[in-house]
Amino acid sequence: MKDIILAGIQGCGKGTQAQLLLNKYWDKIAYFETGNILRALMSNDNAIGDYLKDTVNSWRLVSDNIITWLFKLFLETVENKTILWDWNLRKIWQTKGILHALLDKWRDPIIVLLEIPEEEVYKRLEHRKMCKECWTIYSTLTEWEITTCKKCWWELYVRTDDADINAIKTRIEEFKKETIPALEYVESLWHLVKIDWMQPIDEIFKQIEKLINA
Ligand SMILES: [Zn+2]
Repeated sequence: MKDIILAGIQGCGKGTQAQLLLNKYWDKIAYFETGNILRALMSNDNAIGDYLKDTVNSWRLVSDNIITWLFKLFLETVENKTILWDWNLRKIWQTKGILHALLDKWRDPIIVLLEIPEEEVYKRLEHRKMCKECWTIYSTLTEWEITTCKKCWWELYVRTDDADINAIKTRIEEFKKETIPALEYVESLWHLVKIDWMQPIDEIFKQIEKLINA
């Protein structure tokens, strides 16, 4: 199986696909789950812990350097497993860092871009709820009555930047300005596959499966 990086703007559904892959291939996949790793580091009483607390609490994104560094540490622990990562490939040099780390280890990654129209991003983010404890994301478009997390039973809430139309706009602009050039770089160097994210979830999943098993 090939390593897989799921790319796409927030709200495109990459978290859902990552979950489906993990459910089916739990024994074959090593999931680079930045949320869990960052939370563990945040609880440390040191410079990194302080930096992360400060960044996450003000809804800023964690620096590319930190992510690349974490990724390299993670890579050392992965043996005969497929790597799965769902994170916005942001600035060009973070993309370089991650890609080269994989290629240096003779791995065979495939990058899947989930393409979703802008108006759909607004619709999905406005209907998004997140677990206060484990950060699992739910959609009130499909589960309109949901108020507690199915995994840990904590209360769900709407992130302030999901409820704020200007914050969504900023994220879309950032995606265009930073992620799109990064993806163009990936495309020039390695395999990038685009999937139309407006298909049914299981249809998308089948396409991803075909790619990683090819
Ligand atoms: Zn939860």
